Amino acid sequence: MLNVKILTIFPEMFPGFLGYSLTGKAMEENKWQLTAVNIRDYAFDKHKSVDDTPCGGGAGMIMRPDVLGRAIAENHTSGRIIYMSPKGTPLTQKKARELAKETELTIICGRFEGIDERVIEAFNIEEISIGDYILTGGEQAAQIMLDAVVRLLPGVLGNEASLEDESFENCLLEYPQYTRPIEWEGRMVPEVLLSGHHQKIADWRKQQSEIATKAKRPDLFKKYLDFKNS
Ligand code: SAH
Repeated sequence: MLNVKILTIFPEMFPGFLGYSLTGKAMEENKWQLTAVNIRDYAFDKHKSVDDTPCGGGAGMIMRPDVLGRAIAENHTSGRIIYMSPKGTPLTQKKARELAKETELTIICGRFEGIDERVIEAFNIEEISIGDYILTGGEQAAQIMLDAVVRLLPGVLGNEASLEDESFENCLLEYPQYTRPIEWEGRMVPEVLLSGHHQKIADWRKQQSEIATKAKRPDLFKKYLDFKNS
């Protein structure tokens, strides 16, 4: 059971798309649960302000350490605290696997220009980025990260074996996939896949994975070769 606490100024954005499909079903089956905490509830003034102007000047607003700090202190019980941030370590399949082993996660979603740096230091917060681009808020990033994590929790995917061949496992992209009809608008499913010959199919898929990875993701292909030759 994974227990997730989200600290946000938009709790109504949750569970969002996590309430659908496999992740939604897993939530109904209590394989994970999510509580969205409104950071505004921890504000000190009657306007419920959570942000202020940047010290040293510049555009935008920064989330206040006193309000956010109080929200964390009153909600975090145990486990990692993560701040969704473009300055964080990139989210990878490996990272998702690591997080899927946890039982408690507290996730902070930033807004505006981000959060006061002292909060990150004070609570020893881990920063995770979902890619080299800037979003308007951490809520979207948190949902993407949790989608990748929750599908890896035990029993969430019907067929656990289907995980092993997926893109990024073993540093290779997945081979091309086909389904019926066998002929569509003059295009045929590759014959080997209809042969029933398991070894030949496995060999073809491996070869196709290598070709696709080399062409589409040379960076990943290099890692694959290094791993293979080590
Ligand atoms: N001024 C900041 C960007 C703030 S974007 C900077 O240049 O680093 C506002 C919020 O959106 C951030 O606090 C963060 O929580 C979230 N966010 C934006 N891009 C993100 C990304 N690539 N990965 C994770 N979170 C992101």
